[in-house]
Amino acid sequence: METRVTPERAVAIAHTMPLPRKTETISLDRATGRVLSKPIPSLVDDPRFDNSAMDGFAVRNQDCDGRTTLRIVGESRAGGSEPPVVGVGEACRIMTGARIPDGADAIVIVEETEEDGDNVVIMGEPRPSFIRRRAENLSIGQEALPVGAALGPSEIGLAATMGHDRIPVVTKPRIAIVSTGDELAKPGEELAPSEIYESNSYALAAMVEEMGCTAVRHDAAPDTLDELRRVLDSLTECDAILTSGGVSMGEFDLVRRIMEDEGDPLFWKVAMRPGGPPMFGAWKGTPLFALPGNPVSSQVVFHVLVVPWIANSLQYHESLGPRMADRVRVRLLDDVRGAPGKLCLRRIRIETGDNELIGSVHTHQGSGNAHSMVAHNGLTLLPPDTEGKAGEIIDALWCR
Ligand code: AMP
Ligand code: MG
Repeated sequence: METRVTPERAVAIAHTMPLPRKTETISLDRATGRVLSKPIPSLVDDPRFDNSAMDGFAVRNQDCDGRTTLRIVGESRAGGSEPPVVGVGEACRIMTGARIPDGADAIVIVEETEEDGDNVVIMGEPRPSFIRRRAENLSIGQEALPVGAALGPSEIGLAATMGHDRIPVVTKPRIAIVSTGDELAKPGEELAPSEIYESNSYALAAMVEEMGCTAVRHDAAPDTLDELRRVLDSLTECDAILTSGGVSMGEFDLVRRIMEDEGDPLFWKVAMRPGGPPMFGAWKGTPLFALPGNPVSSQVVFHVLVVPWIANSLQYHESLGPRMADRVRVRLLDDVRGAPGKLCLRRIRIETGDNELIGSVHTHQGSGNAHSMVAHNGLTLLPPDTEGKAGEIIDALWCR
């Protein structure tokens, strides 16, 4: 087992034991939030044929020098039959999306025409740019949706445009989540004097779901080896296990102990603050991330270590895949303390300034302060031994 690794090293080690990636084919109706497992090619040209972007008249540009009168030879409507050919001195009534008649090369919008029996008076400019050209958006076979793209409304609309009603997606891995600690009570229950509400499993479950996986949340396990072993054993039917708490140096930090004695840990302790003591390895063949118990620490470690692990395992697309934060450059409005020898992730509120993003601090930075994760929407990425001074521009994660 490696100890005191950098976050980059921790991510690299975790990649040696990826989440299993399975795939399935599902209906487009059920695809929101899912992730493509194969690129999908267009089954059609888009547009399929030259068509009009406007309601008006399809004309021959050279026939319309100033105010002209043309003979109407018929009409072209979306979904209608083949329109008549437009010859010299002729025009064809046309609707948005309808096929451009042979012979026509420009559209005059209906507002700039006046019909007079079988004729139309052209008062405006004929515009070739109102013709949408065949395949100007997509050609048959073009892979417009790449592997690892998360499917939101626009992607789903495009899949339908390309002719797909069933699409290949990554099967959502099931990730078990369990908090540990004798002090933890379920929200909604009466608290004994020494108890607090358990929150990490709920926050982590939400993060797991946002990363395109299924969260299997377990009620908190008490701090006894037998109970912890029983709970962990019951979770090995999932694809991975996330624990929170019990991973530091204390006497009751039993997740660390049981992993050292009975599991296969690959690393322990990462040079980051908050979130120093995470452990990663396998529990009886199932990958296990042991996150620290402090609420902020567990979420921050999820952002820094678990998100890249999931994204890499499931081949998420770098910019189009599910992600919870974007790396940005931010000008600090307040001083933020760095950490000796550790990547420092202070909470900041990122907002758009005049020409740049700005970051400010609004609550105290204790790793037990769950409210600080709501009062702020970003994390500094201060390199080890670096202070953040007001006025400086630094790297940060902008969380969504
Ligand atoms: P531990 O890592 O188990 O030493 O816990 C560190 C701190 O986080 C302690 O103050 C715990 O009470 C608190 N804590 C641990 N797990 C949770 C949890 N699931 N929800 C809320 N607080 C927790
Ligand atoms: Mg504990």
